[in-house]
Amino acid sequence: MRAQQAENAIDEIWSKALDKIMKADAPSQDRPELGSEIDLAVAQAGSSTLLSSVPTFTKMLYSGGYNAATRNTYLVLRRLGMPTDFFWKFGYWDEKRAFETLDKVISRVFTALMSKQKMGELQLVAVHPDTATFEIAFENCAECAGLTASAPMCFFHGGSFAGMLAAMLDEGLSATEVECVATGGERCRFMIRSSDDRASVVALDRWCAEFECHFEPERRFGVSLKNQMVRPTGNMVDIHYYQMLLAGAFLSNIDLIERACFEAGQAIGKSLLDTVRDMFGDDPSVALPSFYKSLRYANVVLAPSDDGGFEIKISEAPEHFGSLERSSLVPFLSGEIESLVSGLTGPL
Ligand SMILES: [Zn+2]
Repeated sequence: MRAQQAENAIDEIWSKALDKIMKADAPSQDRPELGSEIDLAVAQAGSSTLLSSVPTFTKMLYSGGYNAATRNTYLVLRRLGMPTDFFWKFGYWDEKRAFETLDKVISRVFTALMSKQKMGELQLVAVHPDTATFEIAFENCAECAGLTASAPMCFFHGGSFAGMLAAMLDEGLSATEVECVATGGERCRFMIRSSDDRASVVALDRWCAEFECHFEPERRFGVSLKNQMVRPTGNMVDIHYYQMLLAGAFLSNIDLIERACFEAGQAIGKSLLDTVRDMFGDDPSVALPSFYKSLRYANVVLAPSDDGGFEIKISEAPEHFGSLERSSLVPFLSGEIESLVSGLTGPL
């Protein structure tokens, strides 16, 4: 039941995102005050803390990206009026025709969509139709901009690119990231191969199993709060990206992630305490609203309550969306707020 809700939510997010590139820009209905963008650090903190606390989250991010991209590539092709067998017998096409045709569809639809959402600039680099091998470059990647890691870390995008191609060509595909900005690369780069090729599946499994996350919330949020650019296209990303990231991962294990979310939020709140205090002061009813507004994360209002604590009201949080229950994704933000409030009001 709840998995179905998450699936519906993903379809809604994609459908809204598509409307954005296919129709004239409509102002965001969902967030009249904060608008349609959110600081990248918020999305990165969410996925990175879950990467640290849930060992299988790499695979969840990858599969979430893959499944959402597959489902919604069909939707995109239908909207474009493309027949589903457009790439019929693709394996027999010559390389030039295969590259030019795929490149046209990808750049007109997916590159446009992702650039508009500030997820990054997708570019098809090479296509070998006979072996179903593809190379994709991705500049200004939202998943890793401003982060450092000991191994490539863009699982969501790897899954998304494999899923997108898999749906277009009606073929099982696996991706691995072979160059990543987080490990010092100039761009993120992905190799995508047929899942019939055992080696490609093994490489994907190894990538997901061996990745270790080292995320420093204080450093990363500090950069954003001081308005230092993490990439040439800026620090903001469309909230649809953050929602896709969360909903996609949720779909694979809703209960596990929900439990992990509250604790992940608490951990982030704890590590951000000094930063928030230094920049916004130690009165929670002033500091928290300013902190969340400066990241364009949510409208948070704290009013003193009778018992000496605070009554907290949250609106325009990107976790409130579509068919997902209001409570499903909120544990993250509430864990964070709880940690910050008790840190700011507690003994030094
Ligand atoms: Zn990367």
